[in-house]
Amino acid sequence: MKFPLVKDIASTSIIHISISCSVKEALNLMLKENHRNAIVIDGDQFKILTVVDILNLKKNKHNIDTKLSNVNLAKIPTINKNKNVLDTIEYLNNPIEHICILNEDNSLYGLITHTDIISNIDPDTLMDNYRLSSFLKYGRRMKLVSKDIQTFKLLEEMINETNDNVIIVDKLKPIGILTTKDIMKILNNDSDLSLAVENYMSSPVDTIKKNSSIKEALDFLKKKHYKRVIVVEESGNIYGIVSQKELISLSYSRWTNLMKEHQEELNEINTILKNKNKEFETLASTDSLTGLYNRYKFSELYITSYKSMVQRHNNMSLILLDIDFFKKVNDTFGHNRGDQVLIQISHTLLRTLRNIDIICRWGGEEFVALLPTAPLDIAKNIAEKIRTNIEQLTIDVVGKVSASFGVAEVKEGEKMEDVIDRADKALYLAKESGRNCVRTETQI
Ligand code: GH3
Ligand code: MG
Ligand code: MG
Repeated sequence: MKFPLVKDIASTSIIHISISCSVKEALNLMLKENHRNAIVIDGDQFKILTVVDILNLKKNKHNIDTKLSNVNLAKIPTINKNKNVLDTIEYLNNPIEHICILNEDNSLYGLITHTDIISNIDPDTLMDNYRLSSFLKYGRRMKLVSKDIQTFKLLEEMINETNDNVIIVDKLKPIGILTTKDIMKILNNDSDLSLAVENYMSSPVDTIKKNSSIKEALDFLKKKHYKRVIVVEESGNIYGIVSQKELISLSYSRWTNLMKEHQEELNEINTILKNKNKEFETLASTDSLTGLYNRYKFSELYITSYKSMVQRHNNMSLILLDIDFFKKVNDTFGHNRGDQVLIQISHTLLRTLRNIDIICRWGGEEFVALLPTAPLDIAKNIAEKIRTNIEQLTIDVVGKVSASFGVAEVKEGEKMEDVIDRADKALYLAKESGRNCVRTETQI
């Protein structure tokens, strides 16, 4: 499931008008374009003019020829068009049912209304199992009036109680509805407000049964372009009314919960895979007996070190070492004791060398160390230090061991095999010279 960006769902069919225009001009534009609201641009702020605002003006005996700047208009929250739809959830608590969508330069791009959001939620997966009756309590936020009520009296009540719609009933059966849109028509036509509301209400009304699923209610609203739907009992008696806003916030909280659960699951799988990868990588790159790098990993690290050597103009050297008379160790004490010697040697290498040095079990009883910042003479000294440390070991049962060393410096432009070859020749020389000593490539 992927969340769209606000620009993908924003409605760009909006009407806007400057704050310097009159209320009458705005009302005409709204009727002409069939919009319930107009965005009023006041410098870098966006405000909204609704039919309730116009009603309030009428009620307070203001002339609707007055300038919009004289009217107290609500400021609309704004959001950048590249934000995610999830970022708009908190705005659903805002009494203003719109969010202005802005371009990068903060100019007006469009508007998100509940209808825009609703038509972009996939209710199938979320809302199929939820019944309206499971969250709608009887009569919640519903204003019912008899068809005989005088229109003016009703409008006054609506303003005082801040209702934006009323359901007109006849013996508990809904027969009509009066919404802000109807009120706008009444105002514009200068209709006689002393008449009963049944003259002006929208009738008949579409209803939906209270045991319908939320998905059905959402589909219904989407199809009819309604903001709200009247909910009835099986008998057809009024049960309540539900708005898009309520359905959306319900859908979203369910949706976010689903995503959260999903995300947690994904995170778990990711962690397992990451750990597995680490395990595999370790297996593939280390020698199982000593835990040092194996030849494969060494070659890989050699390339990185070589590049950095060239880039930083460092001197890099390589030490190859081979345990002396190791065959005899195996023959005398057994293979397991031989293995213990290899482990002890690897520990000696690790504690003698620095963290930046790369130590590898090259094969059998041969080890190689790459010293990324050491020229030949330094590397020779380090090899000498390793040699002494090995010489000073007293290994359980086996006793004393020694190793021979060949040292070579890496030259720019050569392959790893070339420098290994020179180190190997120097090592051969060390063996030839009586073992337990260090030889460098310059002595070959
Ligand atoms: P030199 O001083 O000339 O190096 O003599 P050497 O006996 O060490 O040389 P040689 O290469 O003839 O013998 C190496 C021996 O190392 C042969 C092999 O059995 C032993 N070896 C190789 N890998 C392992 C291992 O993993 N564990 C044990 N215990 N021995 C090993
Ligand atoms: Mg050997
Ligand atoms: Mg050997």
